[in-house]
Amino acid sequence: MEHVVVVGAGHAGVQCAASLRDGGFAGAITMVAEEEHLPYQRPPLSKDHLGEEPTPLPLRGATFYGDSAVELLTGVTATGIDRERRQVTLSDGRALTYSTLVLATGARARRLPGVDEAHLGVHQIRTLGDADKLRAALEKARRAVVVGAGFLGLEFAAVAGKKGLDVTVLEGGTRVLGRSVSPDMSAHIAEAHEASGIRLVLHEGLSSVQVGEHAAEAVVGASGKVYPADLVLLAVGANPRDDLAREAGLEVADGILVDADLRTSDPAILAIGDCARLSNPALGSPGRLESVQNATDQARHAAEVILGSAGPFAAVPWFWSHQGALRLQIAGVRGPDDPTVTIGDVEAGRFSVLSFRDDRLTCVESLNRPADHLAARRLLAGDRRPGPGDVTAPDFQLKKFAAP
Ligand SMILES: Cc1cc2nc3c(=O)[nH]c(=O)nc-3n(C[C@H](O)[C@H](O)[C@H](O)COP(=O)(O)OP(=O)(O)OC[C@H]3O[C@@H](n4cnc5c(N)ncnc54)[C@H](O)[C@@H]3O)c2cc1C
Repeated sequence: MEHVVVVGAGHAGVQCAASLRDGGFAGAITMVAEEEHLPYQRPPLSKDHLGEEPTPLPLRGATFYGDSAVELLTGVTATGIDRERRQVTLSDGRALTYSTLVLATGARARRLPGVDEAHLGVHQIRTLGDADKLRAALEKARRAVVVGAGFLGLEFAAVAGKKGLDVTVLEGGTRVLGRSVSPDMSAHIAEAHEASGIRLVLHEGLSSVQVGEHAAEAVVGASGKVYPADLVLLAVGANPRDDLAREAGLEVADGILVDADLRTSDPAILAIGDCARLSNPALGSPGRLESVQNATDQARHAAEVILGSAGPFAAVPWFWSHQGALRLQIAGVRGPDDPTVTIGDVEAGRFSVLSFRDDRLTCVESLNRPADHLAARRLLAGDRRPGPGDVTAPDFQLKKFAAP
């Protein structure tokens, strides 16, 4: 009998198992899940979970696994892959034989040299356990320093500011969300955070964390300046968990390399989600993405590949980030030099920044404009896209343009 083994029960792994059953897969499915909990949604961890609603949101109800005949092994880590025998070895001493192996191992929070995350008061955020610790720390802390003005850093800063903490965000680059959004959107988001009382310090990296007798007391910036803090959050990105694949001899380069079928260099092994990198990005979305959309779309695609019914993977990337009252949604991917046009009401904080390359729409960043975001996803999936000339017309509306 066919046996699909999925390593990792995050957004990608669980969706892959569900899509296999939805597609009529009749073989056995086993999910190996290192974490003890029922598989849960990660995005709330840096948002609502830190506030009043600490209940983790499950990816699927508890009955899903039994009802769908998906064997879920929680608290078990996959420790090795024997590709000759098609076996995965597990931390509990067992070995599972697979016909197809799906690696959905996600990513881990990036560490900074010289900073010991084990110190009380120093935090990272990737797992439910991390978020629970951070939530407890937020109840007692008075001054938070966040290192990194990416999505997670700013989402946390908004929560901490709302709870009344004195919050400073240090960013080594020239602007917030520098790798993810246009300069215009970046400037607006920075202004909004500053207006709500969060202190942003640009061009400031981390030199060290000063630790007192028991806990963190301050962050020393690369400039030498000292920022007092009883809570430090390191939010400096994530690294793909590709070690299992590397040790098994699969091709890996900052992510497990996959082709347009999401197959690794061993055709019996697929990789999906945060841990996977498309080796030919021209075929679809860029190399490696960290988003729920990418994880779930790749999972659905992997299931189709296993069922033998897929074309090449090509999905419009999209993303969201909630930072206090700021509801940011992004569709598509912009190049760093793509020119932009802004539509909507910037003063009221409800607008979209449209990016173009060779007069072709590449990306739409929407702030508190969900209708623009939905229209953008439709437009970017097709060939009929507005050019800069269209969008500067006085009565232009993205939703109208996208209507069939
Ligand atoms: C705090 C936070 C907030 C986020 N907010 C957003 C957001 O607002 N919008 C958005 O689109 N995206 C957001 N993301 C990103 C999104 O959560 C990830 O892109 C998504 O979780 C990727 O899914 P995945 O299944 O690839 O990886 P993961 O969800 O990381 O799941 C991988 C799982 O595999 C397990 N695993 C790894 N190795 C092994 C092994 N050897 N054996 C067994 N199990 C193993 C891990 O323990 C983990 O549970 C956020 C991420 C974080 C951390």
